[in-house]
Amino acid sequence: MNRHPVVLIPGDGIGPEVTAAVQRILKAVDAPIEWVEHVAGLAAIERGRDGLPAETLDAIRTHAVALKGPCTTPIGEGFVSINVRLRKELDLYAAVRPVRNLDGVPTRYQGVDLVIVRENTEGLYSGIEATLAPGVVTTTKVATEKACSRIARWAFRYARQRGRKKITVFHKANIMKLTDGMFMRCARAVHDQEFPEVDYQELIIDAGCMALVQDPTRFDLLLLENLYGDVLSDLCAAFVGGLGVVPGANIGDHGAVFEAVHGSAPDIAGRDLANPLALLMSAVMLLNHLAETRRDEACAAAAQRIKDGYNHALAEGCKTRDLGGTLGTREFADAVVARLS
Ligand code: NAD
Repeated sequence: MNRHPVVLIPGDGIGPEVTAAVQRILKAVDAPIEWVEHVAGLAAIERGRDGLPAETLDAIRTHAVALKGPCTTPIGEGFVSINVRLRKELDLYAAVRPVRNLDGVPTRYQGVDLVIVRENTEGLYSGIEATLAPGVVTTTKVATEKACSRIARWAFRYARQRGRKKITVFHKANIMKLTDGMFMRCARAVHDQEFPEVDYQELIIDAGCMALVQDPTRFDLLLLENLYGDVLSDLCAAFVGGLGVVPGANIGDHGAVFEAVHGSAPDIAGRDLANPLALLMSAVMLLNHLAETRRDEACAAAAQRIKDGYNHALAEGCKTRDLGGTLGTREFADAVVARLS
């Protein structure tokens, strides 16, 4: 069997626990991949290394696909986010996060089937901060026509390929006329000139959030600049059961890094409490990506078996505590393995 090398970054906090659970399940279906493990984040720093070692970046450049656990970022001080650095270094400009209700996970919303597409390289994440005078600080929001147009084109292409009917841009271009204005105008131009068959809508983000919470089923694909994409990813996760069930991918023209939306969850780390499903669903996205890009049916088959396995487990009430169940991380992985076809 042809095995695809996939870089594995366990991360820190709950990262190593959820990663181990996912590895077990992928092994149980004999997914045609071979892990190439590298460190990043606190795991690298604790070994006296840079938070994003050159070997880790080189390995992703070489193999083009990675599965990554969460990496902690110090708040209000300390080193620059490893996650942001990784996305920028590898120019993984599109973050895609499907948010769907799962059959065994009832929530107060039903029929939610959204995709968030987040611009991943600029906006307020440019890291340009300055102290102008004591007590006066600034952060610069950056928007370039190149990045705004390419994320819009990526989102519309995704919509066309996956049969998504409508793209909504949330913006604050009434206030940030240049940056959000450019994001909106680029999306509108890509729609008008290249993808007129996809419905297109623009909403000011505050009113958009209200409409989203009132009825998320009215939305299909949300196209968002970096910060709005970050915030709305967690907001939308709440519609379908929380951060334990929302996967993601960071995609560029030369590689893709799959990771859950959630962070390192230091409040539950090391206690066998974390839900591994979001990372497992990210691994399913990874397998489907390999199936598409390497034309390998075995990857699609493995992805489907895993999906059926976790759907069965959830339908039978096997859940971690974040979803109202009683299982630990390892027990949930056992429950999925026991239900694999
Ligand atoms: P978080 O996503 O880690 O946790 C938010 C809440 O959700 C916590 O109560 C946590 O226990 C819960 N939660 C998260 N994932 C869960 C899971 N799989 N199962 C069960 N419960 C889960 O967000 P935070 O606490 O704001 O951030 C913690 C750290 O993670 C910060 O350093 C932040 O910078 C980092 N972070 C990293 C990434 C990434 O690596 N891509 C993403 C977001 C945050």
